[in-house]
Amino acid sequence: MAESQKRTKVRIPPIQVPLFVFRRLWPRLYPHRWALAGATLFLILSGGIGLAFPVVVRHLMDAAFVELDRGLLNRIALLLLGLFAVQALFNFFQVYLLGATGERVIAGIRKDLFTHLLTLSPDFFTERTTGELTSRLTSDVVRLQGVLSYQISELLRQLLYLVGALVLLTLMHGQLTITTLTVAPAVVLLGGLFGRRLRRVSTWVQDKIAEANTVAEESIVQIRTVQSFVREPTEAKRYSQGIDSALRAAIKRAITRGVFFGVITLVVFSGIAVVLWQGGRMVLAGEITGGQLVSFLLYAVMVAAAITSLASLWGGYQEAQGSAERVFELLAQKPTVADPPHPQRLEPGRGWTLRFRDVWFRYDSSLPWALREIDLEIPPGEVVALVGPSGAGKSTLAGLASRFWDPTRGKITLDSIDLRELKLADLRSAVGIVPQEPMLFGTTIYENIAYGRDGATREEIEAVTGAAHATEFVERLPEGYESRVGERGVKLSVGQRQRIAIARVLLKNPQILILDEATSSLDTESERLVEEAFEQLMQGRTTLIIAHRLSTVQRADRVLVLDRGRVQEVGTHAELLAQGGLYARLYARQFRDDLLPTEPLIG
Ligand code: ADP
Repeated sequence: MAESQKRTKVRIPPIQVPLFVFRRLWPRLYPHRWALAGATLFLILSGGIGLAFPVVVRHLMDAAFVELDRGLLNRIALLLLGLFAVQALFNFFQVYLLGATGERVIAGIRKDLFTHLLTLSPDFFTERTTGELTSRLTSDVVRLQGVLSYQISELLRQLLYLVGALVLLTLMHGQLTITTLTVAPAVVLLGGLFGRRLRRVSTWVQDKIAEANTVAEESIVQIRTVQSFVREPTEAKRYSQGIDSALRAAIKRAITRGVFFGVITLVVFSGIAVVLWQGGRMVLAGEITGGQLVSFLLYAVMVAAAITSLASLWGGYQEAQGSAERVFELLAQKPTVADPPHPQRLEPGRGWTLRFRDVWFRYDSSLPWALREIDLEIPPGEVVALVGPSGAGKSTLAGLASRFWDPTRGKITLDSIDLRELKLADLRSAVGIVPQEPMLFGTTIYENIAYGRDGATREEIEAVTGAAHATEFVERLPEGYESRVGERGVKLSVGQRQRIAIARVLLKNPQILILDEATSSLDTESERLVEEAFEQLMQGRTTLIIAHRLSTVQRADRVLVLDRGRVQEVGTHAELLAQGGLYARLYARQFRDDLLPTEPLIG
């Protein structure tokens, strides 16, 4: 597996790239630029009013205490109320515009992420757990949402207050401003130091939660295994341990945050105390009025509040960056099996010859070959049974034929077109798969069958259900076709699920079939029905069937005996028996006297 395909754990680049989130988000924000511009405008207007506030207060104070003018005091107070009402309106528009845009962008990221996940190749999913991926779709995206709908606007607002208040301060009270400004570098330095640590701890928390989710997910999916081995306490403990280590990480994060904000507020408020003292002395000396000192203080508080919020936003931004990296890394993940730039078309309407030409395959360069030197030609309509011990490579061979993986060496062709030159959707429409233990969607039987082809009519669905020998059991269910099958189809037996899966593939009507017979024993009745359904399905189609039953191998045109990734023997059932090789030995071991036709053959 290529390095980029490896599961990525916490990756903290040595050099911080503070603009990473915005750089990646910008193409997604661009279509909403007008809403964003509107939000910024309202933000500036509302900020402007905020900045004007201390000036008004100064006049108010001086009117009251210096000029002792009651009428002026009343007018100024009314003006202040009016200003706040207008500011409230601006705030509403700003929050609404930005919030709505943020939600739209996030919804887009969610949809794209999921759509993208669906295109990724099986090797990607074998490397990752479902819990980890759902965690990306949920908690990491939620963090980005925080950036978009709150942090960006707060960042702008606080920057505006910081710069505006500093400029006004300098213009009005140059002397006092110098004191204020000595505090700022200390805060910036602290912000930088803590930001990095916060980010590390935060990524760590997210990872621990993803790990715990994986445990939960696995136990829920495998609930029957868990319960039958009475492993509920073990699983509960595993999950608790996961959550506990997430908790420990989260508590560390809380401590870091706490220390961070504690230290910063201390520095900021000490600065204010000093300024207050210095300003008080200036009022006493008659250099400024009381109103001027109050307005100065209001600006100074504004500067302090802005610095504190910016520091906290910086922390939040650092946290979001880890999430953003993971989300965008996932979006950038390329499927290993993808459409060619100039796909060739398959001539429709007739069968194709499926050829394996000197195919070698391994799942990973560090693993041994799963298939070697496979040369195989299956003309249209032929049924080839694959047999061999477990781990021989039967499923791998079947997986290569539907291009879930590409051969490491050699090629697979359909009528001399390399599978890699075909559009994936065309190839996959031509190939139908019935897995050993088909999984159904947790909806109705009808919808599960209809999944086979978009826009199928009720008549067609009933016809394929009949052909798959499923009508009888479906109609016996209390709600017939509308019966819900439970998650993954748990309410149906394996034999019933297989027949639904067969009906689904019949509806799809592919020319090439890949079948994996169930190894689990079915009762004789089910067995017969599934067999007949398979029979229906294989008619006139090129079929590769991973065989576990004697009747299947007997009926196949050819039997391919695989062992340790190689084709060991090829022939009909009778020929292979007569050869007295591996097949004969496997046969002797598994089906002596053919007493138990439902027994798995091999594998
Ligand atoms: P069979 O279907 O005959 O039982 P498989 O085709 O499933 O055999 O497996 C062939 C070999 O490939 C085995 O050694 C198995 O361990 C290995 N293998 C199967 N799937 C994977 C995978 N996704 N990643 C790595 N190795 C795999």
